[in-house]
Amino acid sequence: MGNIIQNEQFKERLQELLQNKKFKRTLKIIYKENQKQLLSVQSCQIIDQLTLQQCLDLKKGIPFVLEHQCKILLDIKEKQRYCYLCTLCNKKVKRDRGNSFCPTCNEQTQYKLGYCLKVKIVDAISEDNQNTHKAIMFEETANNYLGIEANDFSNQSHDSQNEHFISINDQKSHIVHLLKLQYNLQNENFIINKILPLITE
Ligand SMILES: [Zn+2]
Repeated sequence: MGNIIQNEQFKERLQELLQNKKFKRTLKIIYKENQKQLLSVQSCQIIDQLTLQQCLDLKKGIPFVLEHQCKILLDIKEKQRYCYLCTLCNKKVKRDRGNSFCPTCNEQTQYKLGYCLKVKIVDAISEDNQNTHKAIMFEETANNYLGIEANDFSNQSHDSQNEHFISINDQKSHIVHLLKLQYNLQNENFIINKILPLITE
């Protein structure tokens, strides 16, 4: 086990730092992971969390992955909901006369109908909470979020699908999630790879 911090001055400063909500959240995780013991700190740096837009500006032209706090909005005007996916990697395939080529696996693969759900994500770090970005959810992530499999969903009428979207928005659009995001340069959107629950106070 590490050393418990004794330094009075450090404790005092720590109290000040704890007033900062974003920092408190990070600190709590460290605290829990170390079985209720605060381990020694070699260096300490507070970095204000960047907004998604700031990340985009910073990483201009470079693909990147990150975890970010966002809300998810389903859009009934958005027509792209499912597509044909590679059965090996669950990414979109190009179909041509019964054949399918997967650009990710770089070979001919089998395909199935799956989710390719275009959504909006709302940056919870942006000051007014109004910064939205285009994002896409594939199979498992969309399946879990919507609570219905792509095949069953695609068999529903457009009106029923829209009603389902509205109902999910009512239940979930106010929730801030921790999203595992991957920026897709080509389509200029984020891929939501995972939706994690946010640790709250
Ligand atoms: Zn593939």
